[in-house]
Amino acid sequence: MSSSATATVVEDGVYTSVLDLFSIGIGPSSSHTVGPMRAGQDFRSRLEELGVWERVGRIQCTLHGSLAATGIGHGTPDAVIAGLRGLRPETVDPADVHGAWERVQAGEPVDIVGVPFSREDMEFAPRERPSGHPNSLRLTAAISPDGEAISETYLSVGGGFIQREGEDPRASESSAAERAAIPRYSSMRELLELVQDRTIADVAWHAETALHGADAARAGIDAIWDAMRDCVETGLAADGVLPGGLRVPRRAALAWHHLAARGDSEAAAEAVSVYALAINEENAAGGRVVTAPTNGAAGVLPAVLYHAAVTENFDRELIRTFLLTATAIGSIIKANASISGAEAGCQAEVGSACAMAAAGLTAIRGGSPEQIENAAEIAIEHHLGLTCDPVSGLVQIPCIERNAVAASTAITASRLALLGDGTHIVHLDTVIETMRQTGADMSSRYKETSEGGLAVNVVEC
Ligand code: SF4
Repeated sequence: MSSSATATVVEDGVYTSVLDLFSIGIGPSSSHTVGPMRAGQDFRSRLEELGVWERVGRIQCTLHGSLAATGIGHGTPDAVIAGLRGLRPETVDPADVHGAWERVQAGEPVDIVGVPFSREDMEFAPRERPSGHPNSLRLTAAISPDGEAISETYLSVGGGFIQREGEDPRASESSAAERAAIPRYSSMRELLELVQDRTIADVAWHAETALHGADAARAGIDAIWDAMRDCVETGLAADGVLPGGLRVPRRAALAWHHLAARGDSEAAAEAVSVYALAINEENAAGGRVVTAPTNGAAGVLPAVLYHAAVTENFDRELIRTFLLTATAIGSIIKANASISGAEAGCQAEVGSACAMAAAGLTAIRGGSPEQIENAAEIAIEHHLGLTCDPVSGLVQIPCIERNAVAASTAITASRLALLGDGTHIVHLDTVIETMRQTGADMSSRYKETSEGGLAVNVVEC
């Protein structure tokens, strides 16, 4: 499986490559759109490898748990169909994905290279979690002429990452020699021991060059930044109403014009929230977006980085430092708690994004490793317990504004950390473990099922 589909993790360590943690894809959800598209594409590749793709007579998909509960709002059926058609989130034109399920429901089966996919081929089973994971889907192909069935169950584990059921999640495509060259750490405490006279970004860069080579890593990081920047600028220029039925108006463009007209110093500070609105509106519209570390939380870190880049005129080297530092911190959170709203609520998505953004910002402002840890810890600590309860299963309310608020929080967390000397009482490892425990205790109603919270109290007009 490609490294974009599974984390490039390292034995005896937690590092996830920057090219995996920030993957270029489409909205509105990494776990419900990007992951299922990768599952469909992976299933197709498996059948091609087995030499039976040309003999597939029927393909069926069952969505389980949260993928079934909120899949329609997240475009999950469209994404699975697109994946089965061989489309990839990194390169697909979003317009090629949207609308397939609507046509299927209207009685127009979609042609998956000669295989018609109709309404009866997609089953929704929100109460079933056969794999025990909140986001899973099963794909089955009947092979002609005798109807032999080939099945695969996929877990969408957050951030667009997928895992085949029964597969070792620590499997890596990197060679033994590459793995040996990668710095090992499993916690913030171990990362701090490893850093010594280097920076956190240096440690992450060492891992990236071992995994991908310096040129490919540099080009990949630069492409991520280009996609983030394009997403902000596309979102700032768009208007209209977001799809899905809630009739949420896009506000970023108007807010941007208001700020530009004011032109005062407060307007410059407020701009970061508008950048986050722009990204999350683009995500909600199913546009091109970068997981950071998920689609639902895709506005926080790019908004902070874009804001810093334009106000402080950052060059690409500083932007790489920001993203590498954020990756080193995000890897620890992903491995020891979660970055998935379906697993641990919004604290895991927006809280993690806020911590990564705060860490990256602190790094490029010259913070020490201890100050970086402090900034990340502050950012997560004040998101603990945050639930995931998207209205109508759409990544719009509360998600869009939540990203805008978290972008400001990340800047505040970084400022607070830089005001100190790095000494702090609550360590990042402690707050990550607290997030894990809080997520485990949280009712499933608050984990991307839209069965509780705002999702049941907001009256749709
Ligand atoms: S509430 Fe948070 S975790 Fe849930 S979909 Fe929205 S951004 Fe993602």
